[in-house]
Amino acid sequence: MRIDLHAHSTESDGTDTPAQLAAAAAAAGLDVVAITDHDTTAGWAAAAAALPAGLRLIRGAEFSCVAPDGRGGQVPVHLLGYLFDPDSVAITTEQSRLRDERQNRLRVMAARMAADGFPVDPDAVLAGLPAGAPAGRPHLARALLGAGVVHSIDEAFHRFLKAGGPYYMGRADTEVTAAIRMVRAAGGVPVLAHPAARRRGPVISLETITELAGEGLAGIEVDHPDHTSSDRAVLRDLAATLELVITGSSDYHGTNKTVSLGQETTTPESLSRIESLAVPPPHSAH
Ligand code: AMP
Ligand code: FE
Ligand code: FE
Ligand code: ZN
Repeated sequence: MRIDLHAHSTESDGTDTPAQLAAAAAAAGLDVVAITDHDTTAGWAAAAAALPAGLRLIRGAEFSCVAPDGRGGQVPVHLLGYLFDPDSVAITTEQSRLRDERQNRLRVMAARMAADGFPVDPDAVLAGLPAGAPAGRPHLARALLGAGVVHSIDEAFHRFLKAGGPYYMGRADTEVTAAIRMVRAAGGVPVLAHPAARRRGPVISLETITELAGEGLAGIEVDHPDHTSSDRAVLRDLAATLELVITGSSDYHGTNKTVSLGQETTTPESLSRIESLAVPPPHSAH
């Protein structure tokens, strides 16, 4: 069984449509793939409708959050939520707030770049996305690539978009304990995404992860392309101590990243634990 529990589609900052993602997962030899777009569940239906025989879909999303940094400040963290009720009002309200915030932020970042002579038209960028979709820095990166300002997405991040970079702008993301409770209240299973992805900036401490386990966190994404082997060893130990589920995933984004589907995988035992922790909504008959 090959299981990849973290992948993005064009409903957020991936480059495969949800249907193409399903086809690509089958072509990569996966038995199970999770669709986990940032701050939206808009791709679930199309991915489910396009599933080839033999491929199973795990419905999920990646929530944009902040966690305490232990020194009175905050660090960005991503929370994967699996198998939650997509009609949960708390979740739909928060996801919609974040998508609005993302669109405003894209406009501000684009205006700052344009003012410095790097032509990025936010209307054109937003017109290229599904209506109301969660706009992200990868969309700006592609615009810079298209305008010939950079030669790769990675260069766009390093020169322009990374945290601390000249045009970076933060967001009012969800407090991670609130997101964990929201996912649990909607019957879902919260797993901390790539907690040691250091090249993106400061990361969450092991002490804070321990506190989150007490707040209902169910798992840790240990095997991720941005994790070193020593990070993985430390996280694997921590997950074992805290009795958290261990997952592994590619965080596939199509051609916006160089990783491939199935590059990192989750064991069938871990997937079973996630499925057994999920609580189907009472009105799941419709
Ligand atoms: P945002 O959600 O707008 O803050 O942008 C964050 C997203 O940018 C992440 O989810 C990644 O998909 C992507 N990202 C961050 N760093 C890089 C990089 N160096 N190359 C490609 N994509 C990146
Ligand atoms: Fe992303
Ligand atoms: Fe992420
Ligand atoms: Zn992701």
